Amino acid sequence: MLIRARTLLPLSSHVFENGAVRVEGARIQAVGSASDLKPKAGEEVLELGSCVLMPGLINSHCHLDYSTMRNAIAPPSGFTEWVLRINSIKRQLSPEDILDAIRRGYAEAQRYGTTTVCSMAAFPDLLPQLPPAPLRTWWFYEMIDIRHRVTSDDVIAGALTFFETEKSALTNFGLNPHAPYTASLLLYRLAYACAKQNGMLLTTHVSESREETEMFALGSGPLHAFLSGLDRPMHDCGHDTPFGWLWRNGAIGGDWILAHMNDLKASDFALLETISREKLPHIVHCPGSHAYFKHPPFAFGKLAGLGVNLCVGTDSLASTDSLSLLGELRRLQSCEPGLSAEDLLHTITLAPARALQKEGELGCLEAGAMADMIAIPFDGAPEQAADACVSFTGLVPWMMVDGKVLPVPPL
Ligand SMILES: [Zn+2]
Repeated sequence: MLIRARTLLPLSSHVFENGAVRVEGARIQAVGSASDLKPKAGEEVLELGSCVLMPGLINSHCHLDYSTMRNAIAPPSGFTEWVLRINSIKRQLSPEDILDAIRRGYAEAQRYGTTTVCSMAAFPDLLPQLPPAPLRTWWFYEMIDIRHRVTSDDVIAGALTFFETEKSALTNFGLNPHAPYTASLLLYRLAYACAKQNGMLLTTHVSESREETEMFALGSGPLHAFLSGLDRPMHDCGHDTPFGWLWRNGAIGGDWILAHMNDLKASDFALLETISREKLPHIVHCPGSHAYFKHPPFAFGKLAGLGVNLCVGTDSLASTDSLSLLGELRRLQSCEPGLSAEDLLHTITLAPARALQKEGELGCLEAGAMADMIAIPFDGAPEQAADACVSFTGLVPWMMVDGKVLPVPPL
C-alpha cells in the first residue's frame, strides 16, 4: 500500500511536502517524495490529502486499569492521602469494572493518536480476559511486597495467568516493581534478574513525591507513618534519597524506565553526573499528574543537559484529566517555553522508542520501521507542521497500527 500525504513529518529526518510511505505487511518499506515513490502496478494508493503524516505517539507511562477514575479523587493535600483514596476505590472495583476501564483507556488513547501504550498492570490476572490489544502494548506486571501480596495464592495464580496471556503481535510484557516504598530491594533484584533472563523491560516509580523523599532521606513524614502502620520494615529509611537508595544498591540500572523523578536533590544530580550517558536510566515525566499533585518543578533542562533520555507519559486518569499525549506536551511547553515543537514531539516518539529498545522501529517513519502512524489535519507550510501537531486539540482522524488502518473509536 502507498500512503500519500501533503506533509510528511518523519521526526527521524526532515519534514517535507508531498510525501509518500510504502507499507508492506506490518512494516514501512520506503519513505520518500510522492514524485519518487510511484505506485507499483496494482498497488493500493491511499490519499490522505491535507494533513501531517507522522509516527504514532507512544505513551511511556500510564495505568489503563484506572481509566474510569477521572475526577474520582479531588486534588489531595499530599501524596499519602491520594494513595489511601485510590486504594479504597480499587477495593470497590469488580473485575468487569477493571476490564471496562482498560477498554475505555485504550479507546481514549487511540482517539488522541497513541499507537503504543506502556501500561502498568495492577490486576494482571484479568488480562487473559481482554480481547486482543487494539494498540501496541507493553503490560508491566506490577510487583508489590509490603505485607502478603506477592506470596498469596491469588497473586501467584494471577502472575502465572499474566505470563500465559496469549502474546499477539501487539502485546509485550515487562516488570514493574511498583516503587521503593512498596517493593523491597530483594523484589527489585529478583525482577531485574528475571527481566534480564527473559529479555523483558523494566519500569518503576521513583521519587514521585516530597513524601517519598522524606520517608527515605529522613525516615519520617506521612508516607513513612502510613507504611510503618502496615508493618512494612522501615530499615531502608533514613539513609538516602529514593533514587540514590535504589541505584547505589544495584536495584535499578541504565536500562530501566523511571517514572517521575520529580523531587530530586543535589545528591541525586551528583549521582547522575557520575553515570556515563549511555548508562543513564530513561525518565518519564507526566506533566498533568505532576500539576495535579503540585510536585516540585520537574528538572527538565537539568536532566536533558546530563543526557538523560526524557519521555512524556500521561500517568492514569486517577491523577490527570485526559490520555492525550499532545495535551501533555502543551502542559510541558507552558513550563518549558524554550523547547521547540520538535523537541516536545521527540518525548512521545523517538525518546520512548529508545527506552523501549525499539529505535528505528517505533516513533519514526523510515524504511524498516513498524507501520504505526497517524495523520493530523494541516494545510500550512512544512516548517509549521510540528507546531501545528503540538497545538492540535481535536481527535486524531486517521491511524495505522502494525500496517492496519484502525477506525476511530466512537465517543
Ligand atoms: Zn504510575
